[in-house]
Amino acid sequence: MAEDAVNIEKYVISMRRYFHEYPELSFQEEQTIERIKDELEEMGLKPQIIEKGGLYADIKGGVNGKTVALRADMDALPIREETDIPFKSKNDGVMHACGHDSHMAMLLGVAKSLVNKRDQFNGTVRLIFQRAEEQPPGGAVEMIRGGVLKNVDYVVGQHVMSNAPSGIVAILPKECMANADEFKIKINSKGGHGAYPHTGVDTLMIASLFVVQAQTIVSRIMDPSEPAVITVGTMASGFRYNVISPHTELRGTVRTFSEEGRDKSEKYLKEMIQNLCITYGADFEFEFIRGYPALINNPELISVIETVARKIVGEKNIIRPKPSMGGEDFAYYAQQVPGAFYFLGVTNRNEKNPGQNHSPQFTIDESALGKGTLLMEQVALKLLSP
Ligand SMILES: [Zn+2]
Ligand SMILES: [Zn+2]
Repeated sequence: MAEDAVNIEKYVISMRRYFHEYPELSFQEEQTIERIKDELEEMGLKPQIIEKGGLYADIKGGVNGKTVALRADMDALPIREETDIPFKSKNDGVMHACGHDSHMAMLLGVAKSLVNKRDQFNGTVRLIFQRAEEQPPGGAVEMIRGGVLKNVDYVVGQHVMSNAPSGIVAILPKECMANADEFKIKINSKGGHGAYPHTGVDTLMIASLFVVQAQTIVSRIMDPSEPAVITVGTMASGFRYNVISPHTELRGTVRTFSEEGRDKSEKYLKEMIQNLCITYGADFEFEFIRGYPALINNPELISVIETVARKIVGEKNIIRPKPSMGGEDFAYYAQQVPGAFYFLGVTNRNEKNPGQNHSPQFTIDESALGKGTLLMEQVALKLLSP
Protein backbone atom coordinates (compact mmCIF):
# COMPACT_ATOMS: atom_id res chain seq x y z
CA MET A 1 0.00 0.00 0.00
CA ALA A 2 1.21 3.51 -0.80
CA GLU A 3 2.25 5.63 2.16
CA ASP A 4 -0.69 8.06 1.84
CA ALA A 5 -3.11 5.12 1.67
CA VAL A 6 -1.66 3.78 4.94
CA ASN A 7 -2.04 7.20 6.56
CA ILE A 8 -5.59 7.57 5.31
CA GLU A 9 -6.48 4.15 6.68
CA LYS A 10 -5.00 5.03 10.08
CA TYR A 11 -6.95 8.28 10.07
CA VAL A 12 -10.22 6.50 9.17
CA ILE A 13 -9.77 3.95 11.96
CA SER A 14 -8.98 6.61 14.55
CA MET A 15 -12.02 8.69 13.51
CA ARG A 16 -14.24 5.63 13.58
CA ARG A 17 -13.10 4.86 17.14
CA TYR A 18 -13.79 8.44 18.20
CA PHE A 19 -17.33 8.37 16.75
CA HIS A 20 -17.91 4.94 18.25
CA GLU A 21 -16.97 6.16 21.71
CA TYR A 22 -19.31 9.17 21.53
CA PRO A 23 -22.49 8.00 19.78
CA GLU A 24 -25.50 10.30 19.52
CA LEU A 25 -29.15 9.50 18.80
CA SER A 26 -31.09 10.57 15.70
CA PHE A 27 -31.57 14.35 15.40
CA GLN A 28 -29.22 14.86 18.39
CA GLU A 29 -25.88 14.56 16.56
CA GLU A 30 -24.52 17.95 17.76
CA GLN A 31 -21.11 16.86 19.04
CA THR A 32 -20.63 14.63 15.99
CA ILE A 33 -21.43 17.50 13.62
CA GLU A 34 -19.03 19.78 15.51
CA ARG A 35 -16.23 17.23 15.15
CA ILE A 36 -16.87 16.62 11.44
CA LYS A 37 -16.96 20.37 10.83
CA ASP A 38 -13.59 20.75 12.57
CA GLU A 39 -12.06 17.91 10.56
CA LEU A 40 -13.32 19.32 7.25
CA GLU A 41 -12.10 22.83 8.09
CA GLU A 42 -8.73 21.39 9.03
CA MET A 43 -8.58 20.03 5.46
CA GLY A 44 -9.28 23.52 4.11
CA LEU A 45 -12.92 22.81 3.21
CA LYS A 46 -15.93 25.00 3.93
CA PRO A 47 -18.69 22.88 5.46
CA GLN A 48 -22.27 24.15 5.21
CA ILE A 49 -24.73 23.28 7.94
CA ILE A 50 -28.30 22.37 7.04
CA GLU A 51 -30.47 22.72 10.11
CA LYS A 52 -32.13 19.42 11.17
CA GLY A 53 -30.41 17.75 8.19
CA GLY A 54 -26.66 17.68 8.84
CA LEU A 55 -23.79 19.23 6.91
CA TYR A 56 -22.02 19.01 3.58
CA ALA A 57 -18.84 20.23 1.95
CA ASP A 58 -17.59 20.44 -1.63
CA ILE A 59 -14.19 19.50 -3.00
CA LYS A 60 -13.66 21.15 -6.34
CA GLY A 61 -11.44 19.55 -8.98
CA GLY A 62 -9.35 21.28 -11.59
CA VAL A 63 -11.94 22.16 -14.23
CA ASN A 64 -15.71 22.61 -14.10
CA GLY A 65 -17.60 19.35 -14.58
CA LYS A 66 -20.24 17.16 -13.01
CA THR A 67 -20.99 16.79 -9.31
CA VAL A 68 -20.90 13.48 -7.46
CA ALA A 69 -22.38 13.39 -3.96
CA LEU A 70 -21.18 10.79 -1.46
CA ARG A 71 -23.38 10.28 1.57
CA ALA A 72 -22.71 9.11 5.14
CA ASP A 73 -25.28 8.94 7.93
CA MET A 74 -24.36 10.01 11.46
CA ASP A 75 -26.83 8.66 14.03
CA ALA A 76 -26.52 5.86 16.58
CA LEU A 77 -29.20 3.65 18.16
CA PRO A 78 -30.79 3.43 21.62
CA ILE A 79 -28.95 0.17 22.37
CA ARG A 80 -26.69 -0.60 25.35
CA GLU A 81 -23.38 -1.84 23.94
CA GLU A 82 -22.31 -5.35 24.98
CA THR A 83 -18.90 -5.62 23.34
CA ASP A 84 -15.54 -5.49 25.10
CA ILE A 85 -13.72 -3.27 22.61
CA PRO A 86 -11.48 -0.62 24.23
CA PHE A 87 -13.35 2.27 22.60
CA LYS A 88 -16.77 1.08 23.74
CA SER A 89 -19.59 3.66 23.90
CA LYS A 90 -19.20 6.23 26.67
CA ASN A 91 -22.80 7.35 26.21
CA ASP A 92 -24.70 4.74 28.21
CA GLY A 93 -27.64 3.21 26.37
CA VAL A 94 -26.55 4.61 23.01
CA MET A 95 -24.46 2.67 20.52
CA HIS A 96 -23.24 2.88 16.96
CA ALA A 97 -24.76 -0.53 16.26
CA CYS A 98 -25.44 0.07 12.57
CA GLY A 99 -21.93 1.14 11.61
CA HIS A 100 -22.69 4.80 10.89
CA ASP A 101 -19.51 5.59 12.86
CA SER A 102 -17.55 3.90 10.09
CA HIS A 103 -19.58 5.61 7.34
CA MET A 104 -18.59 9.05 8.68
CA ALA A 105 -14.97 7.98 9.17
CA MET A 106 -14.67 6.57 5.64
CA LEU A 107 -16.18 9.69 4.11
CA LEU A 108 -13.73 11.85 6.05
CA GLY A 109 -10.98 9.57 4.75
CA VAL A 110 -12.19 10.14 1.19
CA ALA A 111 -12.11 13.89 1.83
CA LYS A 112 -8.60 13.80 3.27
CA SER A 113 -7.39 11.88 0.25
CA LEU A 114 -9.22 13.89 -2.43
CA VAL A 115 -8.16 17.33 -1.24
CA ASN A 116 -4.70 16.35 -2.47
CA LYS A 117 -5.96 14.94 -5.78
CA ARG A 118 -7.83 17.92 -7.17
CA ASP A 119 -5.82 17.65 -10.40
CA GLN A 120 -7.18 14.11 -10.95
CA PHE A 121 -10.82 15.02 -11.47
CA ASN A 122 -13.12 17.51 -13.16
CA GLY A 123 -16.07 18.94 -11.30
CA THR A 124 -17.08 18.55 -7.69
CA VAL A 125 -17.23 15.87 -5.02
CA ARG A 126 -19.89 16.74 -2.48
CA LEU A 127 -19.56 15.09 0.93
CA ILE A 128 -22.91 14.66 2.66
CA PHE A 129 -23.05 13.92 6.38
CA GLN A 130 -26.67 13.32 7.25
CA ARG A 131 -28.55 13.08 10.53
CA ALA A 132 -31.13 10.54 11.61
CA GLU A 133 -31.22 7.71 9.12
CA GLU A 134 -32.64 5.45 11.83
CA GLN A 135 -35.58 7.64 12.75
CA PRO A 136 -38.29 8.41 10.18
CA PRO A 137 -39.02 10.97 8.76
CA GLY A 138 -35.18 10.91 8.67
CA GLY A 139 -32.54 13.49 7.88
CA ALA A 140 -32.38 12.98 4.10
CA VAL A 141 -35.60 14.93 3.41
CA GLU A 142 -34.21 17.85 5.43
CA MET A 143 -30.93 17.77 3.50
CA ILE A 144 -32.80 17.77 0.19
CA ARG A 145 -35.04 20.60 1.36
CA GLY A 146 -31.86 22.48 2.31
CA GLY A 147 -30.58 22.19 -1.26
CA VAL A 148 -27.94 19.48 -0.89
CA LEU A 149 -28.81 17.94 -4.26
CA LYS A 150 -28.55 21.22 -6.16
CA ASN A 151 -26.39 20.63 -9.27
CA VAL A 152 -25.75 17.02 -8.22
CA ASP A 153 -25.50 14.52 -11.11
CA TYR A 154 -25.00 11.31 -9.12
CA VAL A 155 -25.39 10.27 -5.50
CA VAL A 156 -23.64 7.27 -3.97
CA GLY A 157 -24.04 5.64 -0.55
CA GLN A 158 -22.16 2.82 1.09
CA HIS A 159 -23.38 0.81 4.10
CA VAL A 160 -21.44 -1.69 6.20
CA MET A 161 -23.10 -5.05 6.68
CA SER A 162 -22.61 -7.77 9.24
CA ASN A 163 -23.75 -10.70 7.17
CA ALA A 164 -20.78 -10.64 4.81
CA PRO A 165 -17.10 -11.15 5.64
CA SER A 166 -14.71 -8.26 5.63
CA GLY A 167 -13.57 -7.34 2.12
CA ILE A 168 -16.76 -8.45 0.39
CA VAL A 169 -18.72 -5.90 -1.62
CA ALA A 170 -22.45 -6.57 -2.11
CA ILE A 171 -24.11 -4.99 -5.11
CA LEU A 172 -27.73 -4.97 -6.25
CA PRO A 173 -28.40 -3.80 -9.79
CA LYS A 174 -31.84 -2.23 -9.23
CA GLU A 175 -34.27 -2.99 -6.36
CA CYS A 176 -32.17 -2.57 -3.24
CA MET A 177 -34.34 -1.81 -0.21
CA ALA A 178 -38.09 -1.76 0.35
CA ASN A 179 -40.89 0.74 0.95
CA ALA A 180 -41.12 0.69 4.76
CA ASP A 181 -44.67 1.65 5.75
CA GLU A 182 -46.59 1.37 8.98
CA PHE A 183 -50.23 0.80 9.88
CA LYS A 184 -52.17 1.43 13.08
CA ILE A 185 -55.63 0.07 13.76
CA LYS A 186 -57.99 0.70 16.68
CA ILE A 187 -61.08 -1.47 17.06
CA ASN A 188 -63.73 -0.25 19.45
CA SER A 189 -66.95 -1.83 20.71
CA LYS A 190 -69.12 -2.06 23.79
CA GLY A 191 -67.30 -5.21 25.00
CA GLY A 192 -69.38 -7.44 27.26
CA HIS A 193 -69.50 -10.28 29.79
CA GLY A 194 -67.27 -13.24 28.98
CA ALA A 195 -70.13 -15.63 29.69
CA TYR A 196 -72.59 -13.89 27.35
CA PRO A 197 -70.76 -13.17 24.10
CA HIS A 198 -74.03 -12.75 22.18
CA THR A 199 -74.76 -9.58 24.14
CA GLY A 200 -71.37 -7.97 23.43
CA VAL A 201 -68.90 -7.38 20.60
CA ASP A 202 -65.48 -9.00 20.85
CA THR A 203 -62.74 -6.75 19.43
CA LEU A 204 -60.02 -9.24 20.36
CA MET A 205 -61.63 -11.89 18.18
CA ILE A 206 -62.01 -9.41 15.29
CA ALA A 207 -58.35 -8.48 15.62
CA SER A 208 -57.32 -12.14 15.64
CA LEU A 209 -59.23 -12.81 12.42
CA PHE A 210 -57.62 -9.74 10.89
CA VAL A 211 -54.08 -10.85 11.83
CA VAL A 212 -54.60 -14.13 9.99
CA GLN A 213 -56.55 -12.68 7.06
CA ALA A 214 -53.98 -9.93 6.44
CA GLN A 215 -51.51 -12.60 5.33
CA THR A 216 -53.77 -13.44 2.39
CA ILE A 217 -52.99 -10.00 0.96
CA VAL A 218 -49.43 -11.14 0.31
CA SER A 219 -50.37 -14.65 -0.83
CA ARG A 220 -53.54 -13.91 -2.89
CA ILE A 221 -53.65 -10.24 -3.82
CA MET A 222 -50.12 -8.94 -4.39
CA ASP A 223 -48.18 -9.80 -7.53
CA PRO A 224 -46.13 -12.86 -6.52
CA SER A 225 -43.17 -11.68 -8.60
CA GLU A 226 -42.79 -8.65 -6.33
CA PRO A 227 -41.49 -9.32 -2.81
CA ALA A 228 -43.89 -8.16 -0.08
CA VAL A 229 -44.19 -8.60 3.68
CA ILE A 230 -46.99 -7.75 6.10
CA THR A 231 -46.15 -8.12 9.78
CA VAL A 232 -48.46 -7.34 12.67
CA GLY A 233 -45.98 -6.46 15.37
CA THR A 234 -48.23 -5.57 18.30
CA MET A 235 -51.73 -6.41 19.49
CA ALA A 236 -52.88 -4.77 22.70
CA SER A 237 -56.20 -5.80 24.20
CA GLY A 238 -58.14 -6.88 27.24
CA PHE A 239 -57.86 -6.46 31.00
CA ARG A 240 -59.65 -9.40 32.63
CA TYR A 241 -60.08 -13.09 31.85
CA ASN A 242 -63.87 -13.06 31.86
CA VAL A 243 -64.50 -9.74 30.17
CA ILE A 244 -64.96 -9.37 26.41
CA SER A 245 -62.39 -6.83 25.35
CA PRO A 246 -63.96 -3.56 24.14
CA HIS A 247 -60.76 -2.10 22.64
CA THR A 248 -57.96 -3.64 20.63
CA GLU A 249 -55.03 -1.88 19.00
CA LEU A 250 -52.83 -3.33 16.31
CA ARG A 251 -49.64 -1.99 14.80
CA GLY A 252 -47.69 -3.44 11.95
CA THR A 253 -45.37 -2.87 9.05
CA VAL A 254 -45.72 -3.38 5.31
CA ARG A 255 -42.72 -3.85 3.00
CA THR A 256 -43.12 -3.63 -0.77
CA PHE A 257 -41.11 -2.38 -3.75
CA SER A 258 -43.58 -0.56 -6.01
CA GLU A 259 -46.03 2.28 -5.52
CA GLU A 260 -48.72 -0.10 -6.76
CA GLY A 261 -47.80 -2.58 -4.01
CA ARG A 262 -48.00 0.21 -1.47
CA ASP A 263 -51.43 1.39 -2.65
CA LYS A 264 -52.79 -2.14 -2.82
CA SER A 265 -51.67 -3.11 0.66
CA GLU A 266 -53.17 0.07 2.11
CA LYS A 267 -56.47 -0.47 0.31
CA TYR A 268 -56.86 -4.13 1.26
CA LEU A 269 -55.75 -3.79 4.88
CA LYS A 270 -58.36 -1.10 5.30
CA GLU A 271 -61.09 -3.06 3.53
CA MET A 272 -60.41 -6.18 5.56
CA ILE A 273 -60.68 -4.47 8.91
CA GLN A 274 -63.71 -2.53 7.69
CA ASN A 275 -65.53 -5.67 6.55
CA LEU A 276 -64.73 -7.58 9.73
CA CYS A 277 -65.97 -4.68 11.85
CA ILE A 278 -69.19 -4.42 9.82
CA THR A 279 -69.81 -8.14 10.17
CA TYR A 280 -69.36 -8.21 13.94
CA GLY A 281 -70.58 -4.71 14.79
CA ALA A 282 -67.49 -2.80 15.91
CA ASP A 283 -66.08 0.61 14.98
CA PHE A 284 -62.53 1.12 13.79
CA GLU A 285 -59.85 3.69 13.04
CA PHE A 286 -57.26 2.94 10.38
CA GLU A 287 -54.04 4.82 9.68
CA PHE A 288 -51.46 3.96 7.03
CA ILE A 289 -48.22 5.89 7.44
CA ARG A 290 -45.88 5.94 4.48
CA GLY A 291 -42.27 5.67 5.66
CA TYR A 292 -39.08 5.57 3.59
CA PRO A 293 -39.76 4.79 -0.07
CA ALA A 294 -38.12 1.88 -1.85
CA LEU A 295 -34.48 2.38 -2.73
CA ILE A 296 -34.07 1.65 -6.43
CA ASN A 297 -30.52 1.75 -7.75
CA ASN A 298 -29.60 3.29 -11.08
CA PRO A 299 -28.25 0.36 -13.15
CA GLU A 300 -25.67 2.46 -15.08
CA LEU A 301 -24.26 3.89 -11.89
CA ILE A 302 -24.17 0.43 -10.34
CA SER A 303 -22.16 -0.86 -13.28
CA VAL A 304 -19.55 1.89 -12.66
CA ILE A 305 -19.37 0.80 -9.01
CA GLU A 306 -19.00 -2.83 -10.10
CA THR A 307 -16.11 -1.96 -12.41
CA VAL A 308 -14.31 -0.09 -9.64
CA ALA A 309 -15.03 -2.82 -7.05
CA ARG A 310 -13.66 -5.47 -9.40
CA LYS A 311 -10.35 -3.59 -9.47
CA ILE A 312 -10.20 -3.11 -5.71
CA VAL A 313 -11.52 -6.38 -4.25
CA GLY A 314 -11.63 -8.67 -7.30
CA GLU A 315 -14.64 -10.34 -8.93
CA LYS A 316 -14.58 -13.25 -6.44
CA ASN A 317 -15.25 -10.83 -3.59
CA ILE A 318 -18.31 -9.26 -5.17
CA ILE A 319 -21.64 -10.79 -4.20
CA ARG A 320 -25.06 -10.03 -5.61
CA PRO A 321 -27.62 -10.59 -2.85
CA LYS A 322 -31.39 -10.45 -3.12
CA PRO A 323 -33.09 -7.13 -2.34
CA SER A 324 -33.42 -6.32 1.35
CA MET A 325 -36.83 -5.83 2.94
CA GLY A 326 -35.29 -3.19 5.24
CA GLY A 327 -35.77 0.53 4.67
CA GLU A 328 -33.21 3.32 4.13
CA ASP A 329 -33.74 7.05 3.67
CA PHE A 330 -30.99 7.22 1.05
CA ALA A 331 -33.99 6.32 -1.17
CA TYR A 332 -35.09 9.98 -1.12
CA TYR A 333 -31.84 11.09 -2.79
CA ALA A 334 -32.10 8.29 -5.36
CA GLN A 335 -35.62 9.45 -6.23
CA GLN A 336 -34.23 12.86 -7.22
CA VAL A 337 -30.98 12.06 -9.06
CA PRO A 338 -29.38 8.84 -10.35
CA GLY A 339 -28.31 7.07 -7.18
CA ALA A 340 -26.62 3.87 -6.09
CA PHE A 341 -26.33 2.21 -2.70
CA TYR A 342 -24.14 -0.81 -2.02
CA PHE A 343 -22.79 -2.74 0.94
CA LEU A 344 -19.38 -3.44 2.42
CA GLY A 345 -18.87 -6.66 4.39
CA VAL A 346 -17.29 -5.98 7.79
CA THR A 347 -17.48 -9.26 9.69
CA ASN A 348 -14.22 -10.74 10.89
CA ARG A 349 -13.67 -13.97 8.94
CA ASN A 350 -12.65 -15.83 12.15
CA GLU A 351 -15.74 -14.78 14.05
CA LYS A 352 -18.08 -17.76 14.48
CA ASN A 353 -21.08 -15.92 15.90
CA PRO A 354 -20.84 -12.30 14.74
CA GLY A 355 -23.17 -9.63 16.13
CA GLN A 356 -25.61 -8.36 13.50
CA ASN A 357 -26.33 -4.71 12.61
CA HIS A 358 -28.61 -3.30 15.34
CA SER A 359 -27.49 -5.86 17.95
CA PRO A 360 -25.59 -4.93 21.16
CA GLN A 361 -22.78 -7.25 20.01
CA PHE A 362 -22.25 -5.59 16.61
CA THR A 363 -18.57 -5.06 15.82
CA ILE A 364 -16.60 -4.18 12.72
CA ASP A 365 -13.45 -5.73 11.33
CA GLU A 366 -11.60 -2.46 10.81
CA SER A 367 -9.42 -3.96 8.09
CA ALA A 368 -12.41 -3.46 5.74
CA LEU A 369 -12.45 0.29 6.25
CA GLY A 370 -9.42 1.11 4.09
CA LYS A 371 -11.02 -0.75 1.18
CA GLY A 372 -14.38 0.94 1.74
CA THR A 373 -12.70 4.34 1.71
CA LEU A 374 -10.74 3.59 -1.44
CA LEU A 375 -13.84 2.25 -3.15
CA MET A 376 -15.87 5.42 -2.54
CA GLU A 377 -12.97 7.61 -3.58
CA GLN A 378 -12.33 5.66 -6.79
CA VAL A 379 -16.03 5.63 -7.72
CA ALA A 380 -16.06 9.44 -7.46
CA LEU A 381 -12.85 9.74 -9.48
CA LYS A 382 -14.15 7.40 -12.15
CA LEU A 383 -17.40 9.36 -12.51
CA LEU A 384 -15.45 12.63 -12.73
CA SER A 385 -12.49 11.42 -14.76
CA PRO A 386 -11.16 14.18 -17.00
ZN1 LIG B 1 -29.61 0.75 10.94
ZN1 LIG C 1 -27.64 2.00 8.93
